[in-house]
Amino acid sequence: MGGVTAPLTVVPDLDDLARLVGNGNAVVLSGAGLSTDSGIPDYRGATGSLRRHTPMTWQTFTRDPRGRHRYWARSFVGWRQIAGARPNAGHRAVAALQDAGLVGGIITQNVDGLHQAGGATDVLELHGGLDRTVCLQCGDVAPRAELDLRLREVNPGFRPEPVDDEVNPDGDVELPEEALDGFVMVDCLACGGGPLKPDVVFFGETVPPDRVAAAYAAVCSARSLVVLGSSLTVMSGYRFVLRAEKEGIPVAIVNCGPTRGDDKADVRVDAPLGSVLPALADRLAR
Ligand SMILES: [Zn+2]
Repeated sequence: MGGVTAPLTVVPDLDDLARLVGNGNAVVLSGAGLSTDSGIPDYRGATGSLRRHTPMTWQTFTRDPRGRHRYWARSFVGWRQIAGARPNAGHRAVAALQDAGLVGGIITQNVDGLHQAGGATDVLELHGGLDRTVCLQCGDVAPRAELDLRLREVNPGFRPEPVDDEVNPDGDVELPEEALDGFVMVDCLACGGGPLKPDVVFFGETVPPDRVAAAYAAVCSARSLVVLGSSLTVMSGYRFVLRAEKEGIPVAIVNCGPTRGDDKADVRVDAPLGSVLPALADRLAR
């Protein structure tokens, strides 16, 4: 299996997890904790406390043109870091387990595309993906890279200094308010004027029902549900654990720190994903 290096840190007992995943047809539900090793921050740290950044909401984005403008100015600057992020050993281990026929579908709450970049297939992006835009008027979906080229053309001199060097999970950075007026936003090319939105589900927005149905179907046809790097704080992910429990499908949770699903889990590993997943892949996918 190449590409997955052996962990240097001590890994807790993985027998129960290996047994569950080794049975095959495991469905993965992944969260932000899987991408922190790739430099993409989590909204919540290991302690579960909310970071100071307030994420963009659907209400602000759709009803407040200034808020939307602010988002795109910040996103224009933060996009480089998201676009430059690379899959880590955890992503590659999940892909290796999938290659070995042990993991079936992957449901991810992440919008960074790193599962796919790490070689995984059959990835259901529950909250969409930052690599595309959608027009709020005509629904046209276009590559984000295309928008980035257009924005660079009309913003040749826009190089504001971020307030700090931390990029947010939404792919934006904090910018001083006075910098925003210097930013020019462009509209949808397909309909000639519709406002663009990243193709991600913002806070306060509902996940499209067909996407939720597909995720439930994947969970219900699985032999096990393996949660990776999510504290399951929001119902958007937690509901799949509840469904698995109802269906009698065993649940494993690998996460640093406590999660809301701990009392529903048949297997619980509280350790860094960057150690656990490569060790699991080494054991099962060779
Ligand atoms: Zn449009």
